[in-house]
Amino acid sequence: MSRSAVWHPFTQHAVEPALPKVVRTEGAYLQRDDGRRILDAISSWWVVTHGHRHPAIVEAIRSTAETLDQIIFAGLTHAPAEELASALIGLAPKGLDWVFYSDSGSTSVEVALKMALGYFRNIGAPRSRIVVMESSYHGDTIGTMSVGARGVFNAAYEPLLFDVDTIPFPANGREQETLDAFEAFSRDRKAAALIVEPLVLGAGGMRMYSPSILAELKRIAEASGTLFIADEVMTGWGRTGTLFACEQAGIAPDILCTSKGLTGGAIPLAATLATNAIFLAFYSPDRSRTFFHSSSYTANPIACAAALANIAIWRDEPVIERVTTLTQLQAEGARRFAEDSRFADVRVTGTIAAFELAVANSGYLAEIGPKLRAFFLERDLLVRPLGNVIYLLPPYCVSASELGRLHDAIDQAADLVGQAR
Ligand code: PMP
Repeated sequence: MSRSAVWHPFTQHAVEPALPKVVRTEGAYLQRDDGRRILDAISSWWVVTHGHRHPAIVEAIRSTAETLDQIIFAGLTHAPAEELASALIGLAPKGLDWVFYSDSGSTSVEVALKMALGYFRNIGAPRSRIVVMESSYHGDTIGTMSVGARGVFNAAYEPLLFDVDTIPFPANGREQETLDAFEAFSRDRKAAALIVEPLVLGAGGMRMYSPSILAELKRIAEASGTLFIADEVMTGWGRTGTLFACEQAGIAPDILCTSKGLTGGAIPLAATLATNAIFLAFYSPDRSRTFFHSSSYTANPIACAAALANIAIWRDEPVIERVTTLTQLQAEGARRFAEDSRFADVRVTGTIAAFELAVANSGYLAEIGPKLRAFFLERDLLVRPLGNVIYLLPPYCVSASELGRLHDAIDQAADLVGQAR
C-alpha cells in the first residue's frame, strides 16, 4: 500500500505508530480491518451519546437524503431546520428563544462571541472584554483558542490571539477567589461576556466544579449586565447527568452552544441558542445591524434530520434512565480507586469519570500519556488520557461488564506508572 496522505488531528506523525483502520461501527464498538473490536470509552471524542449508528438516526439520514441535500440557508429555509429549532427551544433552559446553526463546536462558540460583541455594539454601549475560566477549552480556531487556556496547543499562534480576562478555576475550597475575580472583572472592565464550560472542563483535564458555583457566576453576570455564554458542546446531551449541565444550577444562560451529541454524534451540526434580547439587538430595518455570520453548510438538512431523530430517541427511549445507571456505575467504579495512592484525584460528574494519576510530570505532554493510550489499545480499549488524567466518557449503551473491563485496565495501567517512576 502506498504511504497515506492524511495529516491527522492532534497526531504527531513522527512518533505515532501505524493507525488502526476502522471499517465498521456499532453500539459501543469500533471494528478494525483485522477483525478486532475496540471498545469506544471516549465516545469518539465525546460525540456519540446513544451508541454508534443508532438505527433511528441512520434511518433519518438515509430517508432525508432521498429528498434533500445542502440548501443555502440565507434567504431560504426547510422543515428539518424549522422543526429542530422549535424542538431545541422546547428542551433548552427557558429564555433561549432563537437558534443559529453552524457545523462544529468551534463555530458555535465563534458565533456566540460574535453575537455578544455585536449585541453591545448594536445597543450603543460597546463592550469587548471576554472573561474566561482557567483551564478552559472552547475549540481550535483563532477566536476559540483566544478564549481557551494558553499552552502547548496554541503557543505558536499566541501573537494572533486576543487578550481576555481569566478567572481562576473554582478548585475545592478556593471557589470564592473565582467569584471575587469575576465580580472585579465585570465591575471594573465592563466585560461583554463570560464564557464557561458548565460543571466539567473537558480538554483542560476533566476538571469539575459544583452547580452552586455555576449559579453564582450567573448571578454576578446578571448583576453587571455581562452576558453568560454556556459552552455545552461537551457537557450537553446527558453527559453530566441532565440533558444540559446548566439545568443542575437552575440557570438559563444568555447564549448556549451545542454540537457533538446534538445529532447523537452521527454527523456534524452545531447550534448557538440566544435570548430574544440578543436577537432584538440585531433586528432592525438598518441592514448594517444584520448578524453577519454564515458557513456553507449551515443547517444541513440531513444533519438537522439526524438531530431530530436524536431528540425523538430522548423522548421515546429511557435515555435518562440509562444516563442515571451509567452515572451510578461510574460513581461505583471511582470508589474502587478513591483511597488508592497511585491516583492524585478521582472524580465523577454524571457519566464522566476522571482518574488523575499521581505523577511527577503532569500536563498534556506528560510522558505517560502516549504510553497509556498504547497500553489500552493493546487491550482493544479506546482511551485517550489527557496527559496523566485517564477519563471514561462512554456512550450510554455501555454495559456494567464493559465498564468493569475498563476499570480493571485502569488498575493495571496505574501500575505501569509505578514502574515508570
Ligand atoms: N467546546 C468544548 C467544550 C469542546 O469540548 C470542544 C471540542 N472538544 C469544542 C468546543 C470544539 O468543538 P469542535 O471540535 O467540534 O470544533
